[in-house]
Amino acid sequence: MSQESCLGPAASRLLDEELAALAGDIDRENRVPDSLIEKAAAEGLFDIGSVECLLQAVRRASRFSRGFAHVLLVHGSCRLAVGGEGRVYALGITEAGGGTDVRANIATRAEELGGGSYRLEGMKYFTSNALYASHFVVLALAGEEPALFLCEKQPRIRVEPLDLSGFRGSGVGKVVFDGAVCERLTEPGVDGVRAALGYINVGRLGYASLALGIADRAIEVIVEAASSKRVFGKRLLDYQGVQWRIASIAARRAALESLVVSALDGGGRVDPEKAAMAKVLGGELALEAAWSAVQILGGRGLAMWGEAERMYRDAKVIDIGEGAKEVLMDYIAGRTVKKVLGSRG
Ligand SMILES: Cc1cc2nc3c(=O)[nH]c(=O)nc-3n(C[C@H](O)[C@H](O)[C@H](O)COP(=O)(O)OP(=O)(O)OC[C@H]3O[C@@H](n4cnc5c(N)ncnc54)[C@H](O)[C@@H]3O)c2cc1C
Repeated sequence: MSQESCLGPAASRLLDEELAALAGDIDRENRVPDSLIEKAAAEGLFDIGSVECLLQAVRRASRFSRGFAHVLLVHGSCRLAVGGEGRVYALGITEAGGGTDVRANIATRAEELGGGSYRLEGMKYFTSNALYASHFVVLALAGEEPALFLCEKQPRIRVEPLDLSGFRGSGVGKVVFDGAVCERLTEPGVDGVRAALGYINVGRLGYASLALGIADRAIEVIVEAASSKRVFGKRLLDYQGVQWRIASIAARRAALESLVVSALDGGGRVDPEKAAMAKVLGGELALEAAWSAVQILGGRGLAMWGEAERMYRDAKVIDIGEGAKEVLMDYIAGRTVKKVLGSRG
């Protein structure tokens, strides 16, 4: 990693060594052990105070477990916005109608009870961290206005786990709010969908950081495998076809790293256009890196639950989560065209 690490030695060791040892089980069982969450919390990984440091932790964790890296990302992006109350935060925006057109698909409703409290009825889909959450940040309609709410875990919130092929262990679930009593986070008159975009923009840089972690690890896997294998009398690593794969991943990784840094202003604000670009390029980098790792390992790379195979399953999520690639491409194109045509666009 080129940036100086903001993580202490114990947290770094946890993300490098302990996570490497646990990553296979997290993927297979689709669950992060409570003991790992507790240990990570004790090492400060659940109270990271800046976007920059959060992204570093996500990238480092992502080398071995995208599931756990995603737990850190979702919790961290909520905590940076909401503050320190929650032990583990989850963010419920997407509903059964789909995550692309968020505004059109909000069916969860909030009824005012007085004293700042609201009663929530509805269902959220693909809520990461749902299995571990102490608190849920939820998008719901207060009357006709989308607003964000904070709900502490309670019997009137029911979580059903989802079994996805990628980012296993990220605690994704369907969450039913059956009269849950929650507090309103956004003031009346503030658009909750716009407010949610603040979390999502950090999330998009987080997805780019997940991709950087995949690229970091894929390069190691490729170099280790190709240097220990001989084909037609020379090391696999000595073939140009292998070297060019490594060069391509390394060059794109360096470019993405710079883009992520340039999307941050140092004060916690994120440039939304660069965040969208970083997520799109992150999806491409992760798929290229994971594809190459599987290819260079050959048949061994296809072993079910193996490290390269897991990378490949996880890489695809980066194109979908935090906004599908096509939607972000539309957004980037719109902004780019406007810069050329101005009001004529
Ligand atoms: C692992 C994982 C974790 C997630 N965690 C969370 C979470 O914590 N909280 C949360 O609220 N949500 C979460 N999500 C949901 C995520 O944000 C949505 O999956 C994402 O926004 C896409 O929505 P969708 O899957 O409903 O796809 P849909 O909205 O149904 O879209 C389906 C497909 O349509 C295509 N498409 C859409 N729009 C266009 C267009 N304009 N042009 C061309 N093609 C288009 C895309 O290929 C897209 O993949 C998570 C998803 C995953 C996979």
